[in-house]
Amino acid sequence: MTECVGDAKLEVKQASKEFKESENVAEKYSAMTSTKNSDMNMNVGELSAAFTAVPTHKSMKKQIQFANQEEKQEFSKFPTKTGRRSLSRSISQSSTDSYSSAASYTDSSDDETSPREKSQVNSKGSSDFCVKNIKQAEFGRREIEIAEQDMSALISLRKRAQGEKPLAGAKVVGCTHITAQTAVLIETLVALGAQCRWTACNIYSTQNEVAAALAEIGVSVFAWKGESEDDFWWCIDRCVNVEGWQANMILDDGGDLTHWVYKKYPSVFKKVRGIVEESVTGVHRLYQLSKAGKLCVPAMNVNDSVTKQKFDNLYCCRESILDGLKRTTDVMFGGKQVVVCGYGEVGKGCCSALKALGAIVCVTEIDPICALQACMDGFKVVKLNEVVRQMDMVITCTGNKNVVTREHLDRMKNGCIVCNMGHSNTEIDVASLRTPELTWERVRSQVDHVIWPDGKRVILLAEGRLLNLSCSTVPSFVLSITATTQALALIELYNAPEGRYKQDVYLLPKKMDEYVASLHLPNFDAHLTELSDEQAKYMGLNKNGPFKPNYYRY
Ligand code: NAD
Repeated sequence: MTECVGDAKLEVKQASKEFKESENVAEKYSAMTSTKNSDMNMNVGELSAAFTAVPTHKSMKKQIQFANQEEKQEFSKFPTKTGRRSLSRSISQSSTDSYSSAASYTDSSDDETSPREKSQVNSKGSSDFCVKNIKQAEFGRREIEIAEQDMSALISLRKRAQGEKPLAGAKVVGCTHITAQTAVLIETLVALGAQCRWTACNIYSTQNEVAAALAEIGVSVFAWKGESEDDFWWCIDRCVNVEGWQANMILDDGGDLTHWVYKKYPSVFKKVRGIVEESVTGVHRLYQLSKAGKLCVPAMNVNDSVTKQKFDNLYCCRESILDGLKRTTDVMFGGKQVVVCGYGEVGKGCCSALKALGAIVCVTEIDPICALQACMDGFKVVKLNEVVRQMDMVITCTGNKNVVTREHLDRMKNGCIVCNMGHSNTEIDVASLRTPELTWERVRSQVDHVIWPDGKRVILLAEGRLLNLSCSTVPSFVLSITATTQALALIELYNAPEGRYKQDVYLLPKKMDEYVASLHLPNFDAHLTELSDEQAKYMGLNKNGPFKPNYYRY
């Protein structure tokens, strides 16, 4: 054991030396993962080259140019605040909305005064923040400590790199959900040398006590739970528009911050080295800008990294579907008839969790490949209108709109639970239920009984918005994977030599995904097998990865 630790120290020391000599910071973190302790063969040598990912669109224009007024307006339609962050399934959408229904210290106080009208200072005398109540900082610290327990990979990245301060000089302006898990990310960035100013990407999702804890340690946080739309933009503005401080990195979730900077302070982009974007919506917009030649800095698309899609979408939903349903309805799953619409990553996660608890699950699909997968996994593939009468639960996971229509809702049986795990609030035609003959009865937070004239009740959860984000928490461990990816993307963009990245949107290269995964393996005491020279040659692989071609589907 002693020998093992000794070896590990030696290797970390060597790695640390290498690190200093390298231009590529991320590369060296990878190098440092190779300790005998973790027994992983992720001694990444050529991460740098691998990391220079292939951009999707080529665009080289420096300036933000709107071709015409129409385009400008189009940009202004860029998503704003409430209820549509759902697409992004980001770091904290989970615990955020979740904290509105689940246990949290947040806001048991009756203080209705707007934080904007309060004058607050932290214990060091700084007032460069705006949170609900700085006095909640201690509670927030405990929340952060709980989150840290299951975010050990991010903490280990922090420990490995904090001596080198790879983000020294980085001025990161961030717009994400502000929850305990995000706080672990922000504190990691600070430990790596960054100065951070932070705001919330959703008006409901801030954990006030966590925001207070961050403000207490000197992070300039502008966010509280229950902001108005005006507050939302005011907070973003306070983060960006500050005398004597100019951001050089952007970490966004949903694109509102990026949008604001484009719209109000385009000159900021002269100093910005890159944008890291987490959400489907934000990434979509970045690709549009890139395609139109209007993206003026490099951007990293975290949303489509393998470690996000294959973990967040699948495993996170596998765990949180049951949590959300239990918390809202106390339902028992054994023997219940459930139909899951869509058998993609989210649908697969939901189906496997429900099946494991004894529910009788069937699936609807439009795609024969996913339908065949469902069949092979033992689920009956059906049409919704054929089975809807018998179902105890209807769950949407398609990313589509109006998958559950008023006609379906009319035919459901009394007590049927209807909820959405997929896209925003579009999958269930909730608007069609707002007709005079139907009575809505709020039974719990996020739970409505919609009552038909004959007394039939359908139990609608979260008004058709994402169930897990509105009604449950999301595991810190999954958020650690995404947060680690975000931290590495920032480090890479910040340290990349001139010319490595153009004004385009980049996907994380496989090597980086593999590295993020490798950091999380010690949690499970997982031991990777190393390729022999002979095997590596036979497979045509570098012994240190990447281990799969880009087209590999996992
Ligand atoms: P996916 O593309 O892998 O799966 C969606 C599936 O739905 C596809 O197989 C598609 O063929 C099928 N589909 C589309 N329209 C349909 C219809 N009318 N009827 C039946 N099936 C239909 O996507 P995914 O990764 O599973 O994500 C699905 C949605 O969930 C996306 O909107 C995504 O943003 C969202 N999401 C939610 C969470 C969460 O925490 N709740 C997490 C990640 C992603």
